Amino acid sequence: MGEMGKIIPIGQIAIVVHGGAGTDSEFILEHIPEYEEGLNAAVEAGYDILKKGGSAIDAVEAAITSLEDNKYFNAGRGSAITAAGNVEMCASIMDGKQKKAGAVAIVNNLRNPISFARELLKTSDLMYVAGTEATETAKDLKLKMEPDSYFVTEHQWDVFEKERKKKAGRSKALDKYMKRLHGTVGAVALDSDGNLAAGTSTGGTAYSQPGRVGDSSMIGVGTYADNDIAAVSCTGDGEYLITEVMAYNIAATAEHTGCSIQEAMDLVIHGKNKGKKCDFGAIGIDTHGNIGMAFNCERMHRAWRTREDSGVMIYR
Ligand code: ASP
Repeated sequence: MGEMGKIIPIGQIAIVVHGGAGTDSEFILEHIPEYEEGLNAAVEAGYDILKKGGSAIDAVEAAITSLEDNKYFNAGRGSAITAAGNVEMCASIMDGKQKKAGAVAIVNNLRNPISFARELLKTSDLMYVAGTEATETAKDLKLKMEPDSYFVTEHQWDVFEKERKKKAGRSKALDKYMKRLHGTVGAVALDSDGNLAAGTSTGGTAYSQPGRVGDSSMIGVGTYADNDIAAVSCTGDGEYLITEVMAYNIAATAEHTGCSIQEAMDLVIHGKNKGKKCDFGAIGIDTHGNIGMAFNCERMHRAWRTREDSGVMIYR
């Protein structure tokens, strides 16, 4: 018997990753094999750890690191470029066993923001740090740093240029409501000891106001894990995910209704928020090893692996 009297299947392992949800694009259509390869590599990096008896939190960090290093995903290398022409990254990670988390916002030059978040979870009395001082702390922790040029990809530079030109013809008031291109990566895992973990990492939205922080670094919004309920990682329009407290909302719905993680996502995304004009996406695993994936937009890059099943998908 697991904690709280729930039955946790011994030896069950599972991992789900996402590479962001939103509108489709020419670029995505032209690079489907690269996206699928990246999602598969991430899921395998995590699964490899789980099948050797490793922890859910290690699996989540490994999967996200792989996506951060992959230039096709908007996190780490390949992050969106702000209106100031630089990259600002956010990440968070949560361990469902200890109910401990680490989170970082607006960090630069850090190759793997998720590892910085993990470091905060592990070692320090700091849990959530942001900005230039946070980047300095990462340097002190001897985390891997890269020059600005490492993060800026040709694709994100093209997006930046297009957004810059569009913005030139818009009033400030109108600009506030413009739909922005966005992207994120995330992972959730269940290990053979019944521990759950979740993590999320992002370069945020294209041509955003420097200093903008979305949901991805926020515990309870972008990321949530509790061994007694579920692990959840979200993606989509940060401003709307924040006011829905999305990751916790999904977990709490599963907890209070007793439904599966998939049903909880469907209730929150397709039920309660039906018709909302924003992008929402989520992945999750519950304490029973059930996996869930839901999104209300054109696509959500995702891949999963359990002992019985595996897959990679971008569209419905
Ligand atoms: N939620 C992220 C943000 O608002 C973007 C995304 O998930 O696509 O920064």
